[in-house]
Amino acid sequence: MPFYSPEILNDLRSRVDIAQVIENFIPLKRSGNGNYMGRCPFHDDRSPSMNVNPTLGIYKCFACNAGGNVFKFVQEHEKIDFIAAVEWVANFAGYALPQQEKNENAEVSEERAMVRKLNELACQWFESQLSMSQKALEYLANRHITEETRKLFHIGYAPDGREGFIGYAVKNGFSPLDCVKAGLAVERENGGVSDKFRDRLMIAIQNQSGIVVAFGGRDLSGNSPAKYMNSPESATYHKSDILFGFNHSRVSIAKEKSVIIVEGYFDLMSLYQGGVTNVVAASGTALTENHANILSRYAKTAYLVFDGDAAGKKATLRSLEIVLPKGIAPRVFALSRPDGTKIDPDNFVNEQGPDAFRQALTQAEDWLNYLAMERNPRSPEERAEFVSYVKSLVKSIDDRELQNQYLKLISERYNTDRSLAHVKSIKPAYKAPRPVASSNSQDEVIPQLEQEASIDWAMIPPMEVRFANLILRNPTLMDRAAEYFDMDWATSGIQLFESRVVEDFVSSTVAIYLESGYHSPQLLYENFSPELRLFLEGLPEEQWKSPQEIKEFYQTLTVLSTKLCDRQKRMIPLNSNDAVEIRMQMSKFTQGMQKINQLYSTEKIDINAFADQVVKSRSMLMKFQAAIPDNGY
Ligand SMILES: [Zn+2]
Repeated sequence: MPFYSPEILNDLRSRVDIAQVIENFIPLKRSGNGNYMGRCPFHDDRSPSMNVNPTLGIYKCFACNAGGNVFKFVQEHEKIDFIAAVEWVANFAGYALPQQEKNENAEVSEERAMVRKLNELACQWFESQLSMSQKALEYLANRHITEETRKLFHIGYAPDGREGFIGYAVKNGFSPLDCVKAGLAVERENGGVSDKFRDRLMIAIQNQSGIVVAFGGRDLSGNSPAKYMNSPESATYHKSDILFGFNHSRVSIAKEKSVIIVEGYFDLMSLYQGGVTNVVAASGTALTENHANILSRYAKTAYLVFDGDAAGKKATLRSLEIVLPKGIAPRVFALSRPDGTKIDPDNFVNEQGPDAFRQALTQAEDWLNYLAMERNPRSPEERAEFVSYVKSLVKSIDDRELQNQYLKLISERYNTDRSLAHVKSIKPAYKAPRPVASSNSQDEVIPQLEQEASIDWAMIPPMEVRFANLILRNPTLMDRAAEYFDMDWATSGIQLFESRVVEDFVSSTVAIYLESGYHSPQLLYENFSPELRLFLEGLPEEQWKSPQEIKEFYQTLTVLSTKLCDRQKRMIPLNSNDAVEIRMQMSKFTQGMQKINQLYSTEKIDINAFADQVVKSRSMLMKFQAAIPDNGY
């Protein structure tokens, strides 16, 4: 799994307009001060409740509290994991993510980037070839695939000939060896290289983020021994991780909490075309544990719709044994025509329509019934054997509660006890990557409640709000702010601002700037506490015309430090000569501040001299602070 550094993520985020990304999914309207409103997709939203703030790079729903940055939105909306969301956003923005992985050398990541580009090129080329192939177009028409479906699944055509694609790839800067690495060409015995896919209908296999990682090729010549041929595993294609169609069906699988698992590309595409969209197919392999792990995040039920022949039954049984331990309840059914002959989902949908298919789904057998019908145990011995077999399946389920429910069911149906004591699990119990809530677990993980933050704006002096905003909106001030609010200052115990939130805001902003080397509202938002995030969201849109911001920065500091000095004064009791001395210095300080302000505003000194004086004045404030007794009252 790739790992992207915070620098990369920040850089990507800063280049993407979150409003543009969200508008890709839901309509947005301008709401003034540069923000947008739209209907929240995360709850049943009648009136637009979702605010999108491009300056901070965040969205927030006032009604259901959904909110976050652009990655979070894509992650939640598309039901994908974080990395996939990052890749989605990068794809959207045309941003080149470094293809680095942990423990991966540059060579491997370069190869992956190359294979990815080459697959993309191949996909475009195959699609353009399709429109020129009468044969391929006719084939698709015969299989009732519409143009829309064809485009959605990037169906193309690889013409006959040895170097059709290779020639095109070479023209585009790739080598024949690159084509071999990408699985698009094969090495011949004489040392040459030729196209792997010839006279085949080409179906693009995409990963979760919609990136083309491989192809499935359907023979159209009629004389190839292999009806289907898939890309071999490559730097980007790992069969056991890829579910065909999942990039399209993910959202509806999550919505329905169920997934229909089919065998073939055309089964999937026909169902999808007919509006049955919660469907996936394992491509070029039987269903794997990885596949089941992925699906378990979205689905509670899996409908296994395989062929009724011996191979199909074997695949059904295997898939059942794989999804069950992940907490997905398998349901099985075989489709048939009214006359009873078996039929695959593709033909079924084309002959009887998607509604008939949905109707058939409701007739699916639960896995226990299915196994009982298949095995048909009659004698007491057969029944005992059968019970111990299904119990072994139940034992493989990681979720204790689900296990108990199934045991109850088995004991009711087969009049047997509910114990698993002497039952062997069909495989070692699967270790779930995340805690699974179960009735008898001792260490249930309770999610940490995010503290409800709120800001009492009435308590913050307007000048301090404006100063915070000044720093937020003017990256040009950051070096000056870092100079003023430096380490000595931070460790002096001084609170320049009356508002603790503003104090916190300024010190955090400077710290983040010093650590990251740059300043952006989005970066701050990412790193802020919930309270500071709220504060940030509440700051008004304002602009300063340079060099106005520099002037205001130092002028405000003189006012703030005068006020600070007054507060310090009240904390120094007049009980010693030293205290009297300090008090006198404080009065001088206040006069000094007024004086430099006056000199500057009457242009007796320039901005640099003014800034110098303000920065120097800090040493006095720190001295006063040190004079405050520890038990100051
Ligand atoms: Zn909402």
